[in-house]
Amino acid sequence: MDAQHDQNVSQRIASADVDARVWDVIVVGGGPAGLAAAIAAYDQGAKDVLILEREKELGGILNQCVHNGFGLRRFHEELTGPEYAGRYIDELATRAITVALEATVLEVAPQGDDEVAVRVVSPTLGYKEPRGKSVVLSTGCRERTRGAIGTPGDRPSGVFTAGAAQKYVNREGERVGDRVVILGSGDIGLIMARRLTLEGAKVLAVVELMPYSNGLTRNIVQCLQDFDIPLYLSHTISRIVGKRRLEKVVISQVDDKRAPIPGTEREIECDALLLSVGLIPENEVARTAGVELDRRTKGPIVTQTRETTIPRVFSCGNALHVHDLVDFVSEEAEGAGRAAAKRALGQTQSAENYVAVEPGALVNYVVPQRIDLAALDEKTPFFLRVANVFQNKKLVVRRGDDVIKEIKRLRVAPAEMERVELDRETLRADQNGKITISLED
Ligand SMILES: Cc1cc2nc3c(=O)[nH]c(=O)nc-3n(C[C@H](O)[C@H](O)[C@H](O)COP(=O)(O)OP(=O)(O)OC[C@H]3O[C@@H](n4cnc5c(N)ncnc54)[C@H](O)[C@@H]3O)c2cc1C
Repeated sequence: MDAQHDQNVSQRIASADVDARVWDVIVVGGGPAGLAAAIAAYDQGAKDVLILEREKELGGILNQCVHNGFGLRRFHEELTGPEYAGRYIDELATRAITVALEATVLEVAPQGDDEVAVRVVSPTLGYKEPRGKSVVLSTGCRERTRGAIGTPGDRPSGVFTAGAAQKYVNREGERVGDRVVILGSGDIGLIMARRLTLEGAKVLAVVELMPYSNGLTRNIVQCLQDFDIPLYLSHTISRIVGKRRLEKVVISQVDDKRAPIPGTEREIECDALLLSVGLIPENEVARTAGVELDRRTKGPIVTQTRETTIPRVFSCGNALHVHDLVDFVSEEAEGAGRAAAKRALGQTQSAENYVAVEPGALVNYVVPQRIDLAALDEKTPFFLRVANVFQNKKLVVRRGDDVIKEIKRLRVAPAEMERVELDRETLRADQNGKITISLED
């Protein structure tokens, strides 16, 4: 963000009377999802839009992603994370959208049928309770930690989540270690393998529990293969060793139940271990509103407009489900922002009848989980992740028992989000029976 943007945004920083009026739309979280939602809401006609962001700056996780690869779909350019966020912050600065930084939202509480209160604390505003006609939750996601995966061994320093290590290196100029092992081959682990190599560390191994990588193919090539970093598939870290600082890890091959196979252990001396073992949508705030969460995505259950099970409360971005590309986050958030604005302006009503959408065979989850037939656009995109790597299959969409769409796929993988579109006529044609999407031969 340059000085001009700082100035433009700061002119509209929320003041102490933030709770003196009812906002059209309040957006919780100023990452790429929140920025896109706020801009779209404003452009849809909601002129009182407030963004509440707990950090000192807008942009979310993108601020620490200094690598390029962002925005290929949206801008047909390879941008870094801060550059991608900067495009939206530029856009924001041309609209009268109010921003409160260092403003942490604690709770969201529906107030009757027409308003939602947002409880927020900030060093400048104190405790405030602004109310919105609609609220968009775009709180991003958090990383799974060592506690979540229960790796046995000592508890030395030198064990980081990959995102925390990325922040230390990219934002604070710190070194996390000289001889590094990374557990998990999702995109963050792959990006960090390359980043630490470029910073002068030796990345000795990327260890992956599954028989396939969970990262995008382009990242495996550009981050591992181009730097000769070995990837150990079907392996895990079975012990962490070190008194004060990490001294070594023991890696083991795993069987088809993902349990370490005795006799396959091998020691790697290292002083840093990065854990890139999954992201979980951040929904503490959503829970306070009573929003129903999907046990598969760990994000809210939503309609195609991204309205949750609580009327006037919307969700988008990584808080809703973990996306691989920020371009999809922006697209989804724009839809949520527009829908939140329409609701605030009284142009739409909460749905009364829904069609359920569920994952079928070999599909892990589908978003949205409900369709509001009264609010259909010409096309409705569904996003899903498959359960494993497969070749030569087809995605089959059923309404009840009837097949309504089939799409051939040469290769599918859990790391690459799939998109299926259904048009309005197809969705309206037969209003009985739930929709399922499955992967079949
Ligand atoms: C290491 C890494 C590498 C990546 N590489 C790529 C890539 O190469 N290409 C690509 O397209 N995508 C990439 N991504 C994905 C992309 O960064 C994310 O999809 C995107 O940032 C998600 O946007 P979001 O707004 O949903 O979440 P976030 O960016 O996480 O933003 C959420 C915001 O909400 C705020 N917040 C949370 N809770 C509260 C609260 N209670 N009160 C107020 N504010 C709150 C947070 O402070 C944060 O600013 C990468 C992600 C990571 C982590």
